[in-house]
Amino acid sequence: VSNQETLEFQAEARQLLQLMVHSIYSNKDIFLRELISNASDALDKLRLESMRDKDLDVDTSDLHITIDVDTEARTLTVRDNGIGMTRDDVVELIGTIAKSGTAELLRKLKESKETTQDFIGQFGVGFYSTFMVATKVELVTRRAGEAEGTRWASEGEGTYVIETIEDAPQGTAVTVHLKPEDKDDHLFDYTADWKIREIVKKYSDFIAHPIRLSGADEPLNSMKALWARPRSEVEPAEYNEFYKHISHDWTDPLETIHMKGEGVFEYEALLFIPARAPFDLHMRDGKRGVQLYVKRVFIMDDCEALMPSYLRFIKGVVDAHDLSLNISREILQHDRQIQVVRRRLVKKVLSTIKDLQANDAEKYKTVWTEFGRAIKEGFLEDSENQDALLGVLSVASTNDPAELTTLAQYVERMKDGQKDIYYVTGESRSMIENSPHLEAFRAKGYEVLILTDPVDEVWVERVTEFDGKPLQSIAKGQVDLGSPEEAESAKEEFADFLPWITAALADEVKEVRLSSRLTTSPACVVGDEHDMTPTLEKMYRAMGQ
Ligand code: ADP
Ligand code: MG
Repeated sequence: VSNQETLEFQAEARQLLQLMVHSIYSNKDIFLRELISNASDALDKLRLESMRDKDLDVDTSDLHITIDVDTEARTLTVRDNGIGMTRDDVVELIGTIAKSGTAELLRKLKESKETTQDFIGQFGVGFYSTFMVATKVELVTRRAGEAEGTRWASEGEGTYVIETIEDAPQGTAVTVHLKPEDKDDHLFDYTADWKIREIVKKYSDFIAHPIRLSGADEPLNSMKALWARPRSEVEPAEYNEFYKHISHDWTDPLETIHMKGEGVFEYEALLFIPARAPFDLHMRDGKRGVQLYVKRVFIMDDCEALMPSYLRFIKGVVDAHDLSLNISREILQHDRQIQVVRRRLVKKVLSTIKDLQANDAEKYKTVWTEFGRAIKEGFLEDSENQDALLGVLSVASTNDPAELTTLAQYVERMKDGQKDIYYVTGESRSMIENSPHLEAFRAKGYEVLILTDPVDEVWVERVTEFDGKPLQSIAKGQVDLGSPEEAESAKEEFADFLPWITAALADEVKEVRLSSRLTTSPACVVGDEHDMTPTLEKMYRAMGQ
């Protein structure tokens, strides 16, 4: 056929492939998990597409995954009758890596001392993991509704070959030509029945479509939806594998939340707090991670209606029993029952983080380091849960440069007679520590919270108090630290000076007043109670406002 082309992998893809070909990731078995995971996704997509597009003439009555082995040729093939790919899809999806942040990640990898294993765990390389066990990978696919198929093959070096073919079945088949050097290693005998059964059982048991080994009658997997099983009967390892399947993460989750709602609106939810923030957490159209099922049938990924944006890092599945199978995103947003579920999920996630804070300091710290910045956006988005958010918050403070503090801990350390919770915002801790605003507080031994995230500027404006104590910026308005007698005598002493200097500086400042907040610096500039802080002003200016 004349339309055969040899193409180069995109630069980032090539780098990742190099890592896989010369792999180092100790657990090679997971290549099969990745292929099955892709096949399962493709089957879900086909079912959705056939519901959406009534003209699409496909048979969805027997969606399944087959594993074929040729012991002579030492090949293993994973086949699905799912959505398939067009030729352009293959170039786009297999030849490049579209994940945002890939380039930056690869650059970081070069600079850092992290081992490749950590790196792969963080990133997950899906289809490319086949190159850990293969000398060559072939893929034959035909997109549902298309006449022509595509064949793709690569040895994992710089290039791949792609051609259009006539007689491909609908769906995708991936054939892995196993490395000869693994031939006699019992551990890597991917042509052996027992080995395949073991891997499927371990990593893919919950996959909702039958995984058949050609020649065997029974599917290899139980196909039981994990979220529908009683919590006491699910092993932690099963939860972890399920998490990896839905999140495409290679690292175990930090925490698992399995809940069930009964009564008027029945649902099951299986949610996970990942151990690491995804690279696009703070990028514009970052995805939300909760999938919606209706009575075991996959309905959609990234269901915005189920999770507020500030909890976009939460992964998982919600199975709602009473929804229509062809409900749209738009309708979901306004569905009362979905709103009720969402409210419960949010409360549960926040209370889980709170529990970690109380009972597992290490895990809590990870949650806060990875996701704290996103969680703080909740103050803007979710006023209903303001108290819960204040409860899980940790911030830097003058108390201990090495440790963050919760507001409750701050309150416990408040001095006798101290009424306010003092904070200061700014660009960095070092800038704040050199600012004259802190002097008197330091001298008098008052603790001050140090807020340096841009989002801090915004939430401290919204939150007026914690535990009945007002939040007070030390750089704004009147802060009174001196005794009334001191203030009285200073007033007399400077009676003539103040009007004079106020007049002299009339073009620059609104007012000059005596302050008890300084010890060594002679003067400092403060904002009015309701003024924007300099950082916020800068932020708005940068945004062009
Ligand atoms: P991920 O699954 O995390 O997206 P992969 O590297 O595993 O990354 O796969 C890349 C993409 O290739 C998938 O997102 C999917 O669009 C496509 N793909 C892979 N395998 C299949 C398959 N069996 N059927 C259809 N599309 C597939
Ligand atoms: Mg995948």
